[in-house]
Amino acid sequence: MKELYKDKFFRIMPQTLLAQLPESEQAFIREIAFQHQLTFQELKQVTEIALDFNTWNEPSIVDVWPDSLSIQTHGREAKKQALHSIRESWNKLKSEPNSYRSLSNTASPNTQKPKLINRTKVQLGLGTCPVASIKTRCCQLLTLDAVENCGFDCSYCSIQSFYHGNEIYFDTHFGDKLASLSLDPNETYHIGTGQSSDSLMWGNKNGILDALTAFARNHPNVILELKTKSRNVAYLLKHSLPKNIICTWSLNTPTLITHEERLTASLEERLNAARKLADRGILVGFHFHPLVHYEHWRQDYGAIFEKLQSMFHPSEVVMVSLGTLTFIKPVINRIRNREFTSKILQMPLVECDGKFSYPDELKIEMFSCNKGQTTFNLNIVSENVVCPLLYCPLLYNLLRLFRDLPCSQ
Ligand code: SF4
Repeated sequence: MKELYKDKFFRIMPQTLLAQLPESEQAFIREIAFQHQLTFQELKQVTEIALDFNTWNEPSIVDVWPDSLSIQTHGREAKKQALHSIRESWNKLKSEPNSYRSLSNTASPNTQKPKLINRTKVQLGLGTCPVASIKTRCCQLLTLDAVENCGFDCSYCSIQSFYHGNEIYFDTHFGDKLASLSLDPNETYHIGTGQSSDSLMWGNKNGILDALTAFARNHPNVILELKTKSRNVAYLLKHSLPKNIICTWSLNTPTLITHEERLTASLEERLNAARKLADRGILVGFHFHPLVHYEHWRQDYGAIFEKLQSMFHPSEVVMVSLGTLTFIKPVINRIRNREFTSKILQMPLVECDGKFSYPDELKIEMFSCNKGQTTFNLNIVSENVVCPLLYCPLLYNLLRLFRDLPCSQ
């Protein structure tokens, strides 16, 4: 017996994100689903488009859906025209540079207080970067999970798909495990703690920074990178650090920090914190990751490049890396599931090695940003570059740590 559309709708509906929409929009989509007998894929896409319009603070699906008068045909053709029209509106918004002017500065961050949980892990969380694959040009970074999950609220963050909500995990035996890690003394390792959390926001809680400092001191063949969006450098200013600890800041424009990197330190606070460490002779670095394409991106990123040049001498800066937005499917779903405003998914998403990112032309344009005397003109060797690229003259300074080389200028 043929299934009634009503029964089909209630069978397929739970597999979509329809329940995340306001009641009025759910009712509207239900109505058009019944009218046009939407298939599962069509219902799923219309729902995702409706969620995107809301997250981007654009007119809702109810406002954008073409009215019956503008559709001249009936039946299947009418459905085809309506879906085509809604997809066109969605694609137009994604292909234009985003404007943050319509978003308020007070977009609500995830303000639930993080729950700090001590637990004992079986093993030390040391592994290869999750982005590494045969299609990736990898910088060979090893990731060390000193803390798992983050207290900041960046809309694009990929760790939100690995950990549970606001629970932050500390390994009670992290220091012991790290102290007993054996490494090949003939190898050079680049190890970072900023992939499973922010490296500095927790300070020395549970002795994490004590353990990391001792580890770096015992292994001069390790470049230990502490990567942060915080201004929390109190521990580093108070203690003497081995020279193979480098501190890097993920930087973004004030517009992006306000709207997409909630709860993090401002650009000025990050740069001032880096300046304080550089004044103590600690090598610092900067990651422009993610570079986000939006109106005025060129001027805004250019202004940061100029500021960096005025605040730091090249001999103080160990690396500058560039990278764009890259999403995995579960992160896209998590963003669509959240009740907040963000423009981060308002971009043309192109699939590459199972991940979604900007089309290559846009990446090339962004990696070739020219502003005043600053030129980041990087060679993109593979069309599947999803990893940050290092700006080589500054990477030279990293090598300087281990070899007797003069400063790069
Ligand atoms: S600071 Fe890093 S780890 Fe923390 S939420 Fe932002 S992107 Fe994720």
